[in-house]
Amino acid sequence: MSAAMLPKALPAASEDAEEIARMQRLFERQRLAFEAAPYPERAARKAGLRRLIDALRRHQDDIVAAVNGDFGVRSGVETRMVEVMGPMLEARHALSHLGRWMKPRRRSTELLFLGNRAWVSHQPKGVVGIIGTWNFPLYLTLGPLVAALAAGNRAMIKVSEFSPRCTLLLRSMLAECFDEDEVAVCGGGVAAAQAFNALPFNHLVFTGSPRVGRQVMRAAAERLTPVTLELGGKSPAIVGPDADLHDAALRIAHGKAFNAGQICVAPDYALVPRGRSATFAAAVAQAFTRLYPTVDGNAQYTSIITEWHAARLRDLLTDAQAKGATLLRCGADAGNGRQMPLTVVTHVDDGMRLMQEEIFGPILPVLEYDRLDDAMALVRRGERPLSLYGLGLSAADQARVLKETHAGGVTFNDWGWHVFQHDLPFGGIGQSGMGSYHGEEGFRELSHAKAVFRRHRFFPVSLFYPPYGTLVQRLALRLFIGAAPAKPPPAN
Ligand code: NAD
Repeated sequence: MSAAMLPKALPAASEDAEEIARMQRLFERQRLAFEAAPYPERAARKAGLRRLIDALRRHQDDIVAAVNGDFGVRSGVETRMVEVMGPMLEARHALSHLGRWMKPRRRSTELLFLGNRAWVSHQPKGVVGIIGTWNFPLYLTLGPLVAALAAGNRAMIKVSEFSPRCTLLLRSMLAECFDEDEVAVCGGGVAAAQAFNALPFNHLVFTGSPRVGRQVMRAAAERLTPVTLELGGKSPAIVGPDADLHDAALRIAHGKAFNAGQICVAPDYALVPRGRSATFAAAVAQAFTRLYPTVDGNAQYTSIITEWHAARLRDLLTDAQAKGATLLRCGADAGNGRQMPLTVVTHVDDGMRLMQEEIFGPILPVLEYDRLDDAMALVRRGERPLSLYGLGLSAADQARVLKETHAGGVTFNDWGWHVFQHDLPFGGIGQSGMGSYHGEEGFRELSHAKAVFRRHRFFPVSLFYPPYGTLVQRLALRLFIGAAPAKPPPAN
């Protein structure tokens, strides 16, 4: 990023230095507080989650204003749905299930150890670091926070440098619910993010690009800090051979227009049956203009976060057009404005940048396939995506797609909604991430599953002590291993 293009929101280096010193102090405070109270009971965890829910409800208008301020334009309804309702639903889900999640789980012992006890006890890991990104600055930090609190941890959150207003709001909002030795919010730029990354957290949840994810994992490896990486990638939408093209177009247009396509699980590109891309592209354009009759100045249509990000998207289109693609702009382009209408791109090939990079904006490349096998082969050829969508596929084809392709999660007949089911794990695979949160998987991810074995005091384990060769030992080995096959006689 050139200095001229750096968004005004980026903090100065001196502010970073202050923030780095502050986060180091906060970490030490949280670490000591955790040592002093290493196992918050269920009631305390639930009380924290309830305070979070109340704060989200109380501050919903402030949240709408802060997110809108950081973006330029962000629909208030989209903010309420994702940034406010999302973490609330997640916290409510945790409140309903926490009792069961926290119960020690009995496991069977080996037959040889019959009469003893084995169980798994989930223990808080300690201080969890959470690095979020700007596209959903609250949902993607408070979501992991819910999991961290449910699992009994303390947490430090690093908000993206592109969300300065949200950083301030989160800091004051969470300060109303938690002492900073329980939950703390940090800001600052990339230097601050790197310093945050270097803190010796007991677990780190990172949301961002695969490129930075690699750096985060490398830095965490220095301290063997376990990481959950919530990354991105090119999520395909396969439109089935017998799909209703107009319905599929509406679903995909919505996925590309919500938050102006700046969503990790937005459909990145569409695969349609051979010969149908022009009809499909026209249907997407029609659906988009129905949802957003105007774009420029429309308070319901989100702007691209910064001019730098908008310029990147325009470059993708220029590159595709220069290499022979056909562009269908769905609405009047305000030129160099940040509210960019959706552009559907046909006659696409692998040499174009928009098929090499995650798009993360309102551009939809449309590719054609002959048979479902070809569509799946195309998906498999790329990195494993965060999400995959199948629209209008038969039940048999859905089953095949599930078995024959990899993706972090799947929605059929629509886009993205699997993420909003908080009983389902949310996470990627391969280049789109590792580990997951939401629901019980989030609780487990941020807990240590401690294996416990308790010998009954009368259990005669000393029968297996040396000197070896006793009858009991010989019988037990015979019973559990079996006799070795007789050796064939030596060949003369
Ligand atoms: P990014 O990787 O550039 O930045 C993400 C965060 O990392 C920011 O807060 C940034 O300050 C911080 N950061 C930057 N350099 C760092 C470093 N060296 N060490 C530690 N932290 C560092 O990503 P972005 O542009 O902000 O977000 C877009 C990407 O995030 C896309 O790839 C998108 O798919 C992905 N994403 C994934 C999810 C998910 O849940 N899987 C959700 C949203 C976005």
